[in-house]
Amino acid sequence: MAEASQSGGALRVAIFGSGPAGFYAAEELLKQAAPLVEVDLFDRLPTPYGLVRGGVAPDHQKIKTVIKLYEKTAGRPRFRFFGNVAFGQDLKLADVFAHYHHALFCTGAETDRRMGIPGEDLENSHPATTFVGWYNGHPDYRNLRFDLSVERVAVIGNGNVAMDVARILAKPIAELAKTDIADYALEALKQSRVREVFLLGRRGPAQAAFTNPEIRELGEMEGVDLVVRPEELELDPASQAFLAAAEEPTYKRNVEILKEQAAKGEGSHPRKVRARFFVSPVVLHGSKQVEGIRLERNRLEQDAKGAVKAVGTGLFEELPIQMVFRSIGYKGVAMPELPFDDRGGVIPNAGGRITNSPGGQPLPRLYVAGWIKRGPSGVIGTNKQDAIATVNAMLEDARAGLPAIASTPDALPALLRQRGVRPVSFADWKRLDELEVANGKAKGKPREKFTSVEAMLAAL
Ligand code: NAP
Repeated sequence: MAEASQSGGALRVAIFGSGPAGFYAAEELLKQAAPLVEVDLFDRLPTPYGLVRGGVAPDHQKIKTVIKLYEKTAGRPRFRFFGNVAFGQDLKLADVFAHYHHALFCTGAETDRRMGIPGEDLENSHPATTFVGWYNGHPDYRNLRFDLSVERVAVIGNGNVAMDVARILAKPIAELAKTDIADYALEALKQSRVREVFLLGRRGPAQAAFTNPEIRELGEMEGVDLVVRPEELELDPASQAFLAAAEEPTYKRNVEILKEQAAKGEGSHPRKVRARFFVSPVVLHGSKQVEGIRLERNRLEQDAKGAVKAVGTGLFEELPIQMVFRSIGYKGVAMPELPFDDRGGVIPNAGGRITNSPGGQPLPRLYVAGWIKRGPSGVIGTNKQDAIATVNAMLEDARAGLPAIASTPDALPALLRQRGVRPVSFADWKRLDELEVANGKAKGKPREKFTSVEAMLAAL
């Protein structure tokens, strides 16, 4: 092992995935004085920012202001962005090892978890993740069609993604028109006949995964009533113990907000979001399309470790609905040439060092951060500490010794050119960004996104 590379002694790092974890890791690496670090940040899309662009709801623009921090990182010396470059396709692991000392994967959780119940694949049964990608103009999902001619929709799960989906389905079109929602999605939602959205939680209101502003927002929407059954807010002994033990106030506050909502009754608005608790979907009915859902009523049980679990009671109810979004969590996908823990939906690792199997041996020079490291949990900022922890492991390993690599910073772009890949630089992205903002301005939107890779490359 040599102490330095041939590119001036700097630690050369390739990061794959330019979402929050990728940018936080880049920032932490670039802040170092010893060793100096050179970061090349790759994304398979021409655009940066991962879920901040493709996941955060279009009516939550404030959350997207975190991009300003990432722009600062992109402005640092020794940082380069290579959009439109896919690991496994345009660059293999051998290329990465030839040009970089370390590779860090921040590829997030790109697919969804399945419910595993009969009827899950009927028409009009969708993962929420694809609907989110669709309304956000993500190139992978722009060609999907959602049948919004239906009136009753079920959203399975009680997380913040379920909140986003319910809100986008119910929100007045005039409000959506002021956001950066994809133009085709706005057109489709204009024709929407959706009148009732059922939010179905398998546990109780005290265990809901949504956060206070998100549930409150559903209750404050123009033209929409958030309807909650008072009898489903009565706290059983397991929920009382759960709340008493909860260290942070979110859960208690959620229950209070839901109680305030329940007191308002049915309301008089044309659209309803109906929050239901203690129900698990067991079958989706329908011959071709979804026509209804069978729900099993649950009770809660607390196990020896204090975890509160939903247990079926054998009592069932039928709910006529014509569309389902399962919003029960994202799941990571395997990267070519890298180990994968299919059960956890993550790349196996020990504190960010990729291991050959869960609990196995570290593989030198390979690291992970963000959702592909720990699973799809937490808010955007959670990825900062997560990325810093991985970077600390990388720096510790770098100080212990680095392999000699015979690459220079110019060699990688030359290799991509040779392979016919057209990388998108950060300056290119800023040009796209300006065009999007200008295109949106005419329509009173913060931006009108390019939604296809071809259109992005053509614009450049
Ligand atoms: P999540 O917060 O993990 O919520 C998943 C929900 O699905 C939980 O209510 C869970 O219930 C339920 N669930 C899981 N398996 C189920 C099953 N088989 N049947 C019925 N329900 C099931 O996941 P998410 O909503 O996808 O969000 C991912 C992360 O992104 C979260 O950390 C979230 O806070 C964050 N996010 C934040 C925002 C925001 O800040 N505005 C917006 C979107 C996402 P149990 O609790 O019973 O397991």
